[in-house]
Amino acid sequence: RLYNEVIELKGNIRVFCRCRPLNQVEITNGSNYVVEFDSSQDNELQIISSDSSKKQFKFDHVFEPEDNKEAVFAQTKPIVASVLDGYNACIFAYGQTGTGKTFTMEGSPENRGVNYRTLDELFRLSQERSGIMRYGLFVSMMEVYNEKIRDLLIESSNQPPKKLEIKQTAEGTQEVPGLVETRVTGTEDVWDLLKSGSRASLLRVTVKGENLINGQKTRSHLWMVDLAGSERVGKIDVEGERLKDSQFINKSLSALGDVISALASKTGHIPYRNSKLTHILQSSLGGDCKTLMFVQISPSATDLGETLCSLNFASRVR
Ligand code: ADP
Ligand code: MG
Repeated sequence: RLYNEVIELKGNIRVFCRCRPLNQVEITNGSNYVVEFDSSQDNELQIISSDSSKKQFKFDHVFEPEDNKEAVFAQTKPIVASVLDGYNACIFAYGQTGTGKTFTMEGSPENRGVNYRTLDELFRLSQERSGIMRYGLFVSMMEVYNEKIRDLLIESSNQPPKKLEIKQTAEGTQEVPGLVETRVTGTEDVWDLLKSGSRASLLRVTVKGENLINGQKTRSHLWMVDLAGSERVGKIDVEGERLKDSQFINKSLSALGDVISALASKTGHIPYRNSKLTHILQSSLGGDCKTLMFVQISPSATDLGETLCSLNFASRVR
């Protein structure tokens, strides 16, 4: 239960920043590195602007390009015990396209990401608790695009898609009636599903628990979300003075930002209903839910504008 103590001290939302290495193209083009890490502080970084001024950002943890998945998973692993204890939780990756959202969440078979490791730990720990708890785990996969919910499991089974809507239950939680939920008994089951639904941007694990001693039941959701790229439509124009289109590509992302900053500032009204994404995640964001956000950034000078946008977005959370 250490995590719950830690999280109470730090709040229920934790923000990690992860910076990828320069890629081959950037190295070939001699791109400048604009991110500076402090070797004595694992929770801050500085961004060097083109006029050499520096801006500092602080998060719960900052991962440098050479930090490996084990280091990343060490920070996310404790959420699993919370989910098995009955808390809702949400892990998501935010950032410009190409900064490593999928790398962090999904990874590859040789180098598993947060999703796989979290599921592995979920199955391991539920097994370990089998003397006192009985657990059933169910997976759903969906995508929210242009304010429509798509069930990726039903599509991969070649059944006709259903129109899906979010409904509020009597208990005040949100459900999506008709969404396929598949029972899973091991990480490989989930992996097979993930492969079939390939572009899963929202993975939801429902954990049903029953205490074998007192019969008490728990039900919780763990969401793992690989968000759409946060870059703005149209890059900064040639003069670099104004954004051609300051609209976010995705309404969900700005709504998510508003929800998270409302949660962080503890103002009364949380605007969950402004998008399908935030509405669907409503019972897993805020309250005593555990939220982990990875802000993914590029170290290259060519991405400076987007990097600052992402870091500013993430800073609203703290
Ligand atoms: P996104 O999902 O944000 O669009 P990807 O996860 O597809 O970005 O990553 C883009 C590329 O950068 C991929 O080739 C990925 O392997 C590589 N990459 C991202 N993060 C890292 C990292 N921390 N270390 C090494 N390579 C990385
Ligand atoms: Mg991706």
